Amino acid sequence: MTHRRPAACDLIAAGLLLILVLSACASATPTSPPLDPEVLATQAVATLFTGMTQTIQAIPPTPSPTATTIRTPPALPGVYLGTGYLNPLDVPRAYIGDTCQYLRDRWTSTNAAPGTVVMVIMFHSIITDGGTPTDYNQIEEGRFQTLMRDLHEQDFVAIDTQQLADFLDFNAFIPPRSVLLVVDDRHYSEYFDRFFRPYYNEWGWPVVNSWISAQDSIGAASLPENVALFQEGWVDYQAHGVVHNIPISDFVDEDYMISELQGAMDLITANFGRAPIAYIWPGGGFTPRAAELARQSGYRLGFTINPRGPLMYNWVPLADAGDPMRPSYLPEGAVADPRMVLPRFWAPDADLQIDTVRLIGQEASALAEANRSVELEYYDIVCAPTYGPLP
Ligand SMILES: [Zn+2]
Repeated sequence: MTHRRPAACDLIAAGLLLILVLSACASATPTSPPLDPEVLATQAVATLFTGMTQTIQAIPPTPSPTATTIRTPPALPGVYLGTGYLNPLDVPRAYIGDTCQYLRDRWTSTNAAPGTVVMVIMFHSIITDGGTPTDYNQIEEGRFQTLMRDLHEQDFVAIDTQQLADFLDFNAFIPPRSVLLVVDDRHYSEYFDRFFRPYYNEWGWPVVNSWISAQDSIGAASLPENVALFQEGWVDYQAHGVVHNIPISDFVDEDYMISELQGAMDLITANFGRAPIAYIWPGGGFTPRAAELARQSGYRLGFTINPRGPLMYNWVPLADAGDPMRPSYLPEGAVADPRMVLPRFWAPDADLQIDTVRLIGQEASALAEANRSVELEYYDIVCAPTYGPLP
């Protein structure tokens, strides 16, 4: 059907061109018999419409659609792999099993745009007063401030864990460059006041407090002030074990795993009045069984200490094998649930990764745009009959 219109347009264009050419000839050749431009134009238009009529008549009647019409869906294009930006052993994993649901959430116009990236950054100690960091867990205060400024200047916006969970599960809208700031290991409220409150005041940025639930001397001392901080609404309390100091591994039994996972869920719910949705694996320790138990306890997200790359919707870079160059990062491949073993960047290194994260988002966005029509055609043929048209 649609080829009629371009043919007609071509004829109109050709007709107008003919008028112009004939008019030009008329004025450029004074020795020829005088030609009336108006007559020429009329003739040209008449020729044009004759052509159109012939064209229209030449098209055989289109058969009306019947129930037996079968449209063959196109093959879906490959996914973005982050080649050149990720470590070769770190490969993005998809986790949405239902292709139609994935395409629907990916292309719903009110959801996050394809190429939306999240950088998750892990913080521990921030060293003040000219002190020098003594291990890779620490970052000097000036460098911390530079990191925060650079993130803001590169249009990153901090989100909380609820926003991240909704983004990863349903592609819910978040800013195209998002960052989740996660502070491990239970600090006094003074820490948040000094280091993170300025960014909350200035930009409205939340921060995650990865909370150890043991009611030991530190826990008992810091709980009331942390509850007060929680009630302000900008510090997001998530679970970081109860005992914490014994990481989950193949060397601990299932009872211990449950007491850490379910125990942290119960204690945070009791102490703060809201259930956590994320589990930050203490010491970066997890097992496939522990990841299952975390799901069963009601967690929607889990975080390791492995700096593999940023997160995108249905796109989590993980490794199948240990890397001799980075022996402390446990491979996550055996865990069947990528959202339970999400990577995090380390604070001292994060500033150097901002550009990479930005470029990954840009490339993923460009590839999605290039593949858009094929993916939408697939959705229209395969998915729309059951999932409905894209909103
Ligand atoms: Zn910890």
